[in-house]
Amino acid sequence: MASTQATGQILDGKAVSQQRLAELATVLQRLSAERATDEHPPKLVVVLVGDDPASQVYTRRKTTVAQEIGLESELITLPGNTTEADVLALIATLNADATVHGILVQLPLPRHINQQTVLHSVAPHKDVDGFHPYNLGCLLAGDDIPYQALPCTPAGMMSILKHYDIEIAGQHAVVIGRSTIVGKPMAQLLLAANATVTLCHSRTANLASHTQQADIVVAAVGQPNMVTASMLKPGAVVLDVGINRLPDGRLCGDVDFDSAKTVASYITPVPGGVGPMTIATLMENTVNLYQRSLGKK
Ligand code: NAD
Repeated sequence: MASTQATGQILDGKAVSQQRLAELATVLQRLSAERATDEHPPKLVVVLVGDDPASQVYTRRKTTVAQEIGLESELITLPGNTTEADVLALIATLNADATVHGILVQLPLPRHINQQTVLHSVAPHKDVDGFHPYNLGCLLAGDDIPYQALPCTPAGMMSILKHYDIEIAGQHAVVIGRSTIVGKPMAQLLLAANATVTLCHSRTANLASHTQQADIVVAAVGQPNMVTASMLKPGAVVLDVGINRLPDGRLCGDVDFDSAKTVASYITPVPGGVGPMTIATLMENTVNLYQRSLGKK
């Protein structure tokens, strides 16, 4: 349980993710040993359109981690001028391909491609990111059976909280940022875990007045060091989703780590906090989708 005494305990997403990945490698070994000769091994396909350097790093990392744990993966890179019709045609092919169990479209897509149209085209049962409206709708409705996968970053944060046995029920959680891929699903997951949730965004008046009341703060904005110690209640649990590149090349989060850790009870670092959990959850989602495709989950 979160303590209001100790401050600045690190929520070590890197270590937790490594433990998760080791467990998944064992599951994959077992599935491989059990697999009938006519069954395909689990496979993740990552689609990257264009040559955005950050996206190249993220997609390579995802396929590399997959390979490290014994999960088949393929990175399909399309040139930046690929038409939306061609991206949709590729996804239709992957949807119909029985050897593919998870499809991830790396965001952002180039401007001439409608992101929503593409995300909606991924078959819900292969939607490893949990971004299809069917899966998001099931999350909203609280249906725990039909949805196929939860969005990786919010689900990864819930796993960190669970790993460290941090109390959620009855706590006041303030989520900063209302994106469909992080803020909104995170608010929904915290609500499902019986937190009282406040969702803040760019039009929220007096952000600090909300965060100062929070037992759990989730920062998912994309603004370096915007959450400072003075905005936190002593003993708050702080989850920092932001990945920001400073002018000197260093990475930092949305939370001013050095000041916040003197007030927070638990805090995720950047890097090494939420990011690795996102990748571990992606692998977990792929294995789950595979097992569901076999009727084993
Ligand atoms: P986004 O740009 O889609 O959304 C940002 C949100 O922040 C918006 O809802 C906006 O209303 C809110 N916002 C902007 N200015 C604000 C302000 N001054 N006060 C309060 N709210 C404000 O971003 P996103 O995709 O949700 O990503 C957020 C950050 O998290 C980015 O830095 C991104 O790189 C990072 N990210 C990290 C991971 C990971 O695995 N660690 C995954 C996804 C995103």
